[in-house]
Amino acid sequence: QAKGAGRNVLRWFEPWMVEENDGRLALSAALRQALEVGELSLAYQPQIDLATGEVVGIEALVRWMSPVLGPVPPDQFIPVAEDGGLIVPLGGWVLRTACQGLARIQEELGQPLRLAVNVSPRQLRGSAWLEEVAAAVVAAGIEPSQLEVEITEGLLLEDRGDVVDMLDALRSIGVTIVVDDFGRGYSSLAYLTRFPIDKIKIDRSFIQEITRADTDAAIVDAIIVMAHALGMTVVAEGVETEVQERYLRERGCDEVQGYRYSPGVPADTLPMVARALSRQQSS
Ligand code: C2E
Ligand code: MG
Ligand code: MG
Ligand code: MG
Repeated sequence: QAKGAGRNVLRWFEPWMVEENDGRLALSAALRQALEVGELSLAYQPQIDLATGEVVGIEALVRWMSPVLGPVPPDQFIPVAEDGGLIVPLGGWVLRTACQGLARIQEELGQPLRLAVNVSPRQLRGSAWLEEVAAAVVAAGIEPSQLEVEITEGLLLEDRGDVVDMLDALRSIGVTIVVDDFGRGYSSLAYLTRFPIDKIKIDRSFIQEITRADTDAAIVDAIIVMAHALGMTVVAEGVETEVQERYLRERGCDEVQGYRYSPGVPADTLPMVARALSRQQSS
C-alpha cells in the first residue's frame, strides 16, 4: 500500500480506515511508552536436540503486558512497531535483554546454551545492528557463536541487497542465520542458495498436520532432506504431541521446540524447566 498523500486522502473518504488508522496510531504510541517505562519482558522457550533429548537452546519471545490493554500478542504489536519506526529500538532492547537473560540462565544451569532472537529485516539495514550485536554479546559475556538470528522468509524476499550484506557480516563473526516459519509464505526455493542460511525452522502449520495429512508429512520430509543436502540444520516449531516428535525423529529432524516440552517461560524459570526436560530424557 502506497504511503503518504494517497493514504491521507483515503482516510477522509473511508470512515473504517480512520478508525483502523487511529487504532494503529494509538497502539504505536502505547508501545513507545511501554518501551520507555518497562512494560515489555521476554519469555524463553527451550529447544531440544532430538538425538540426545537435551535442551540445547532457547528462543527469546517478546511479551507486552499493558496495564491498560492487558497482554498484547507480538503478532499484533510487532507489525505496528515495524511500521511506526519502533522496531529498531524494540529489537535492540530484545537483543540486549536476551543476551543478559542467556548469561544468567546458563550460569544457573552450569552449561552453555544457544540463544535465538527474532529479527525484522528493517533492523538489518545499515551497519548499526552488527555493532549492537557485538556490544550486547560483550556486555553479557557470551560468545557470538551462541547467537542465532531468526528471520521470516517472506521478509527475506522483500528486502534484498542490504540484508545479504548484513547476514554475511553476522555470519563472519559466528552468528547462525535461521529462516523462521519456513514453508509458510509464498516461498521460492531459489533464495535458500542465494542467502547465507545455516538453519531452517519448519513452520508449525506443517507440524500440526503431520499425522493427519499425507501432503504435509511429505512436505516435512522434503524440507528435511533438502535442508540436509544443502548442509543446513533443521528445527521444527510447534511440536505438541509425542506422535509428532516420533515422526520428526524418524525423519532425521535435528531439533524441536513446542508446547510438548514447554511454552516460553521467564528467565528465572527456564533453568528448572530445562533440568526437568533433561531428567525426563535420562529416565
Ligand atoms: P515465531 O518466532 O515463529 O515464534 C513461535 C510462536 O509460536 C510463539 O508465539 C510461541 O509462543 C508459539 N508457540 C511455541 N510453541 C508452540 C506450540 O507448540 N503450539 C503453538 N500453537 N504455538 C507455539 P508468540 O510468542 O506469540 O510470537 C509470535 C511471533 O511474534 C513470533 O513467531 C515472531 O515472529 C514474533 N516475535 C516474537 N518476539 C519477537 C521479537 O522480539 N522481535 C520480532 N521482530 N518478532 C518477534
Ligand atoms: Mg522465531
Ligand atoms: Mg516460527
Ligand atoms: Mg511463527
